[in-house]
Amino acid sequence: MAFGPRPLGSRNHKKVEEFILSHLKGDSVEEDAFTIETTEGKFPVRNLIAKFPGTGSGIIVIASHYDTNYPLRDTPYVGANDGASSSALLLEIANQLRGQKREGNSVWLLWDDAEESMRLPWYDPESLYGVRHLVQKWQADGTIKNIKAFVLEDMIGDADLHIEREANSTPWLEDLIYQAATRLGYQSHFFERTSQIEDDHMPFVERGVPSADLIDFEYGYNNVFWHTPQDTVDKLSPKSLEIVGTVTLETVQMLDQK
Ligand SMILES: [Zn+2]
Repeated sequence: MAFGPRPLGSRNHKKVEEFILSHLKGDSVEEDAFTIETTEGKFPVRNLIAKFPGTGSGIIVIASHYDTNYPLRDTPYVGANDGASSSALLLEIANQLRGQKREGNSVWLLWDDAEESMRLPWYDPESLYGVRHLVQKWQADGTIKNIKAFVLEDMIGDADLHIEREANSTPWLEDLIYQAATRLGYQSHFFERTSQIEDDHMPFVERGVPSADLIDFEYGYNNVFWHTPQDTVDKLSPKSLEIVGTVTLETVQMLDQK
């Protein structure tokens, strides 16, 4: 966040890429870099994937977008909650997984890029570029059939944390997440509301990969902070990151035993 807004192709975006990579030194990291052509021009896109291998062939992907893209005419924002909270959480999840001997599934942490729409109001065909590119790649090389679950984290830092039940997500995976939250005593933060959100999980949902979007899409009264310069760190709580992070890790363990 301290680097400022991080739209595609900007210096700040580059700094954030380097910041993430600097925290993954010694890990097995794959980069998926390509260029997109959009109505706003051509832009570089770069997905970053840290792989923590398990003993089995299954893969659990935990994802967060890290861009704060905005149409050229729109107001820049730093996206404390939208992009930064979940990307920071993935860095801490990497700390937790590093050096662990994993029985079961491999865990791949994915910082995906170019999630945000190139135009407003939100325009589906010009959004989710990073994950759409990856899903095609993983389809072509056969990776996709080994993905047991795709867990997306998005806007999870809100101090007033209420993760939605998300209607495009896979019901059994959301039920498992709820069980994990209940074990940890955090169930009151999960699934009291239901929404339907077209987010980075959609390309995986469409290919039949069990997927869940952990998102709190009510950010301030009537979502007033979303995609505005008011999306700043004072609206967040480290407790919210702890809740979502521990529930995610508990879910990973439960998936290993499934
Ligand atoms: Zn956003």
